[in-house]
Amino acid sequence: MKIGFIGLGIMGKPMAKNLLKAGHELVVFDVNKANVDDVAAAGAKAAVSLSDAASQVPVIITMLPNSPHVKTVVLGEKGILEGAKPGTILIDMSSIAPLASQEVEKACAARGIKMIDAPVSGGEPKAVDGTLAIMVGGDKAVFEEVKGILLQMGATAVYCGAIGAGNTTKLANQIVVGLNIAAVAEAFTLVKKAGVDPQLVFEAIKGGLAGSTVLNAKAPTMIEGNFKPGFKIDLHIKDLANALDTGHGVGSPLPLTSLVREMMETLHADGFGQDDHSALARYYAKVSGTKIGK
Ligand code: NAD
Repeated sequence: MKIGFIGLGIMGKPMAKNLLKAGHELVVFDVNKANVDDVAAAGAKAAVSLSDAASQVPVIITMLPNSPHVKTVVLGEKGILEGAKPGTILIDMSSIAPLASQEVEKACAARGIKMIDAPVSGGEPKAVDGTLAIMVGGDKAVFEEVKGILLQMGATAVYCGAIGAGNTTKLANQIVVGLNIAAVAEAFTLVKKAGVDPQLVFEAIKGGLAGSTVLNAKAPTMIEGNFKPGFKIDLHIKDLANALDTGHGVGSPLPLTSLVREMMETLHADGFGQDDHSALARYYAKVSGTKIGK
């Protein structure tokens, strides 16, 4: 199938390449020319604008940083809606505010464009392997139509409900991940300060109830003192801000989320916004005077 792909960053680039590998014809666009060149070298065709890309394809995928980017790309001048033919399916795989998904879908529907939200979890390694976890909101029939394409980028694609439900699910994911990383950083700072080797603590607890994907992925890098991203603090701040807005909107309290968001804001202010979210360990190092690792 001929598929449009907009947003060829850390995640979009390998996802687009997996669609090429699966035999699709890709028409791509990004404001970053180097990213376009990289995917074009793998066989994609570069479009001259967003509307040009949208005019050529029955299905178009977006993988952009946040709600304002998606609104600009879909609704803005020379945007997707200017080019897309009625009946086109837009799959927005960006992690954005659920309310923004609903707003963009409404504008799409008015032009006969069918939109679903389909954010992902798993980070760059799973984007490269094509094993992302994909969470979907929107019309179930549209989801069924494109499920095969989603499963060429992911190991799972779960239908979660009406438009915006994919992004509500992603907010839950980001709360669980962010709070878990903070718990690991807090606990490992304690053991270091108390004179017990963090590596031995990791070995001792990883098989018990404290064991988790987050513990396995982030305790070793905290012990190494390696905060190369991965998933950046600044992107996680964006997700927790969207979670807090959503929580305030529906009247669901998020006290732990607001605490971890403030820790991340401190890291951003200290110049660590581009570090991996495991840099929450740096926050504890600052307030305790003790580093977990090197
Ligand atoms: P990124 O910043 O690496 O990539 C975003 C891309 O969008 C860039 O190439 C940028 O040039 C492009 N872009 C921005 N505005 C544009 C516009 N107006 N027109 C065309 N292109 C535009 O971000 P990423 O890490 O790939 O993340 C993308 C989304 O996926 C985010 O919502 C993020 O929260 C989510 N996500 C990221 C990860 C991760 O580990 N990086 C994991 C899961 C989900």
